[in-house]
Amino acid sequence: MIDLRSDTVTKPSQEMREVMAKAEVGDDVWGDDPTVKQLEERAADMLGMEAAIFAASGTQTNLIALMCHCQRGDEYLVGQTAHTYRYEGGGAAVLGSIQPQPINNEADGSIALENILAAIKPDDIHFAKSRLLCLENTTGGKVLPLDYLEAATSLASEHGLVNHLDGARVFNAAVKLGVDVEEIAKYFDSVSICLSKGLGAPVGSVLCGSKTLIKEAHRWRKMLGGGMRQAGIIAAAGIYVLENNIQRLQEDHDHAALLGQELAKIPQLDVDLEYLHTNMVFLKSSEGDFIALSNYLEQRNILIDARYTARLVCHLDVSREDVLTTIAAIKDYYKVSE
Ligand SMILES: *Cc1c(COP(=O)(O)O)cnc(C)c1O
Repeated sequence: MIDLRSDTVTKPSQEMREVMAKAEVGDDVWGDDPTVKQLEERAADMLGMEAAIFAASGTQTNLIALMCHCQRGDEYLVGQTAHTYRYEGGGAAVLGSIQPQPINNEADGSIALENILAAIKPDDIHFAKSRLLCLENTTGGKVLPLDYLEAATSLASEHGLVNHLDGARVFNAAVKLGVDVEEIAKYFDSVSICLSKGLGAPVGSVLCGSKTLIKEAHRWRKMLGGGMRQAGIIAAAGIYVLENNIQRLQEDHDHAALLGQELAKIPQLDVDLEYLHTNMVFLKSSEGDFIALSNYLEQRNILIDARYTARLVCHLDVSREDVLTTIAAIKDYYKVSE
């Protein structure tokens, strides 16, 4: 199977499994797991933050961050298409009593500064208290430029808000920009990273921030049912991917670029090449939805995420050969020769 549905579908390699099997462990709820601590220290260090906390998922680390920063009746400003608004089940509102203030995203994934400014509410008893700006990088595979991050977060700070980054794929952004991930993280009070996306770990996310924030995060993680015991077994995979799988993200970006450029030659397809920054290729078609294409590809052992638009994601279990096979299969489907 060539599975292009997401970069979450990667399977742990033999070497990663061996590292996991040998991990030193303890009860992490008691603070006894040396491997979890090592992962947290390493992640904090890489992001230039004081401390970090390991959790089961990015949904959980984002929710913990929102609950640390915002009290009941506060609100967070967030992109209309952001994961923390759209794809986390409304957790901030349901479990945190935090009101989302969604704002339209621009074509490049950013939220326009004037729209951020317009959404920040004055101190008035009619309004929720605007407390946090939440950005996402990468967002839909797009990289937000550093000068934008600086402008948006300083605008928020000037108005008394704190800044959180949903950095599920922040290493893709760093590799694309050719900077240390710290150069992105430095604008934020907290950053959540996913180990289980392009980096290839089977489970896990890390929230990084100040010591005070992470102390508070331990309480929320426990309350959310996220305290894990001998979690060193999965944390070991996290350390492994931070050590081995960051620079190689460039390969995924190269594969996605090749895929995008070739598919753009198919007249029936509209490929967004302008914003093909990292490992995701998005397709639209004048012919409607992609269900038939998806079924055709599945018979050829190729899986894509297809509805009205289609998404093809490159990751460490997709080789250049696989990309070429996929290009050929899609050209066959559209009866494009060459
Ligand atoms: C995947 C993802 C998350 C976290 O998802 P989990 O599946 O809960 O780990 C958060 N934000 C973005 C942008 C994501 O893509």
